[in-house]
Amino acid sequence: MSKVWNFYAGPATLPAAALERAHAELLDWEGTGMSVMEISHRSREYDALHHEAMDLVAELLGLDDDHHVLFLQGGASLQFAMVPMNFIAPGGSADYVMTGAWADKAIKEARIVADAREAWSGAGESYTRIPAVDELDIDPNAAYVHLTSNNTIRGTQWTEFPDTGDVPLVGDMSSDFLWRPFDANAFSLIYAGAQKNVGPSGVTVVVVRKSWLERANDGIPTLLKYATHVAKDSLYNTPPSFAIYMVRNVLRWIKDNGGLAAMERRNKGKAERLYGVIDALPDFYRCPVEKGSRSVMNVVFRLPTEELEAKFIAEAKAAGMVGLKGHRSVGGCRASIYNAMEPEGVDVLASFMEEFARKNG
Ligand SMILES: *Cc1c(COP(=O)(O)O)cnc(C)c1O
Repeated sequence: MSKVWNFYAGPATLPAAALERAHAELLDWEGTGMSVMEISHRSREYDALHHEAMDLVAELLGLDDDHHVLFLQGGASLQFAMVPMNFIAPGGSADYVMTGAWADKAIKEARIVADAREAWSGAGESYTRIPAVDELDIDPNAAYVHLTSNNTIRGTQWTEFPDTGDVPLVGDMSSDFLWRPFDANAFSLIYAGAQKNVGPSGVTVVVVRKSWLERANDGIPTLLKYATHVAKDSLYNTPPSFAIYMVRNVLRWIKDNGGLAAMERRNKGKAERLYGVIDALPDFYRCPVEKGSRSVMNVVFRLPTEELEAKFIAEAKAAGMVGLKGHRSVGGCRASIYNAMEPEGVDVLASFMEEFARKNG
């Protein structure tokens, strides 16, 4: 088998241990004589797996009793709609922190069903930074404040989250969920499409504050209500069981490897290696992001010309590194180095970057 270092932004690389486990038990899962894909979601065996996955999320995040873990479908994109449908009361409005394309999609969905205003926008600065918490203009009557913790396309990431007081805080953490310890209980709702940092596509992990649900809107379709899924532990209808199984494997891997504190050390080490190369070769590489806002998950960088960028991506691919092309909306290069990316893979890329600059600079 030829080893490829996978830098795709999502779906993205998964821990080898999680994949190997799935490989080993694909045809006979836990002595059932079936794969996990084939067993009823109402079976005792599936139920145990489902709850183990929920419990692992709660344990890794240190959730209090008022927070509930959900596994939903429709991606982070459906959360863009579900959050405002459930939580902006008729005549009300919510605040959005505009840090890139995903925030833009989120506010557009909110505006279909209610009012939404911008608490800050980085559009005028090409989304090259995250605001300082005191730059936010928060409406004290807002239904919630929505932020994107990591901007997958622009390569910016929050380091310190704002204290929004009585206004509930909502986070789209699709591309950095579980990358480090943080106070998850300060959030009223967190959502993350699994396919970047915690599993395959097909499932979205949501953490919701149960007491906030008491203020949620009625009169929306059953499947789009958080209360439905909380009441049934995400088993109201058939869940994406294989995706949840893979998420469970990934969560076990995180736990077995020291939990979120260990992930943070590992991830910061990888990011420092890549930004170190970029900063050491300023005549060749350039990171468009302000230093204090640089993402530990998605390292974006430019080369002197688009021709050299195309050459870089092609030669990296030939050398066994895939997925280094920047998002089509911004161009350039991007290395996504989520939890599962081995430090060795980052090292291979960093050395390749040094060598490429030497030959082409
Ligand atoms: C990928 C991504 C999304 C969209 O996720 P889907 O699961 O494709 O809907 C939303 N927000 C962020 C921050 C993302 O990185």
